[in-house]
Amino acid sequence: MEINMSNMIPLCAGSSEKHDTVCIFGTGDFGRSLGCKMLQCGYSVVFGSRNPWASSLLPKGAEVLGHKEAAQRASIVILAIHRDHYEFFTELTDVLDGKVLVDVSNNLKINQYPESNAEYLAQLIPKAKVVKAFNTVSAWALQSGTLDASRQVFVCGDDHKSKQMVIDIVRALGLTPLDQGTLLAAKEVENYPLQLFPMWKLPMYICTGLTILIFLYCLITEVIHSYVTYKTDYSFLFAISIPNRVFPIVSLILLALVYLPGIIASILQLYRGTKYSRFPDWLDQWMLCRKQLGLVALAYAFLHVLYTLVMPIRYYIKWWASNYVISQIKNNITYPFETSYGWRSDSYVALGMLGFFFYMLLGITSLPSVSNAVNWREFRFVQSKLGYLTLILCTGHTLIYGGERFIYNDYFYKWYLPPAFVLSLIVPCIVLVLKFIFIMPCVDRTITRIRQGWERNPQCPKLSNKENGKPDV
Ligand code: NAP
Repeated sequence: MEINMSNMIPLCAGSSEKHDTVCIFGTGDFGRSLGCKMLQCGYSVVFGSRNPWASSLLPKGAEVLGHKEAAQRASIVILAIHRDHYEFFTELTDVLDGKVLVDVSNNLKINQYPESNAEYLAQLIPKAKVVKAFNTVSAWALQSGTLDASRQVFVCGDDHKSKQMVIDIVRALGLTPLDQGTLLAAKEVENYPLQLFPMWKLPMYICTGLTILIFLYCLITEVIHSYVTYKTDYSFLFAISIPNRVFPIVSLILLALVYLPGIIASILQLYRGTKYSRFPDWLDQWMLCRKQLGLVALAYAFLHVLYTLVMPIRYYIKWWASNYVISQIKNNITYPFETSYGWRSDSYVALGMLGFFFYMLLGITSLPSVSNAVNWREFRFVQSKLGYLTLILCTGHTLIYGGERFIYNDYFYKWYLPPAFVLSLIVPCIVLVLKFIFIMPCVDRTITRIRQGWERNPQCPKLSNKENGKPDV
């Protein structure tokens, strides 16, 4: 987020609407960008700097003074200075007391210090009203016109009035303020810009682990086995055939893993007979990253579709198909049309296409712009009901693909290992069977009651309505 903007000289056109004077400490990248934006929006800006005379890069229309003189000119002081230099503020306590101090600082690492920078500042100048804001907006975004993702400004502070003053400035700059509460939230706000795809970590680990495992499995059963047993070199399968086995298998397992934590949560609630008991952390984490798991599953399904579409132009497939026809002609054999095979092949393709269609629908509805446009029930309908339908369709697609491969052991079970697609069916089948049990009226009724607050063994007996003095309903 730190950007060197030293060679950018901003041109700031003043807005017709005039606001108060705001003081900015620090004439670095962020201070200059914010100052320029404030001037454009009609604020008078006075910079507080160690070298007020050497500030040729500052926006036109801004004044530059020493820290003390600058702070005296405004009731709000924005501190565009790194935390390491905060100690010099103690020399300015007399002038900073009672002022609104806006801390914009970020750290290099998550939880780098025991307390947040804003709390540290509040300790240094106890009589100032510290507000945390602007740390998630970059100097570059302020200069180049903010996009949606960098428009949000998290604001927190203990003094309500000061926080409101900062929120007004944020709005006046065309940004979106998000009130995060008191200064206790400052640490979290400071950690936001340092997080690297926090919700994607677990899905990526699971996906990478599964991909490697299934890839190695296919390599053993399809390449190494052929080489060891028949001395045939099938290493070219590495490029398309094996990936095209890995993608659908991992995709189906990941899709099932989206629905498995919900099932485990139901089992726990049934076993404990209450919903007022915390799930284990791993389950909480798993539940939180279901959307990301689903999106990775969709990406793999998409790759499977792409890889399947290129099959007819592969040399190996063309060679195999022409050889098959030639051997039929040579041996004067024609195989009669088998309606059952026709059914199998068509339903296999149809289930695959329908599954992929609903997969796409699930992916589209998880986009914020779409999910914001539907209500909770509609979202649940798509993500839960259509999600399970997708799982059923894709499992059906794999089961039909399996067909006779389940039975012809000699050819398909190499070194007594089942074909790779069998592995992809384990988790989805478990999820679907458990879901089937959970929608049985007797189980469903109990789980619904638990989710509405009923407890099998209430820890502290609640007062009945009569004891409460209320009529029973
Ligand atoms: P910078 O370019 O290094 O500027 C920091 C400024 O602090 C300097 O220009 C200097 O101003 C002042 N300073 C330096 N040493 C000092 C000292 N010993 N005592 C007093 N003042 C000193 O840094 P920046 O990128 O503008 O970042 C400033 C703050 O904004 C940081 O806390 C950063 O985390 C935060 N922030 C930056 C961005 C970004 O995109 N850059 C985004 C969000 C938040 P004078 O020479 O005028 O005194």
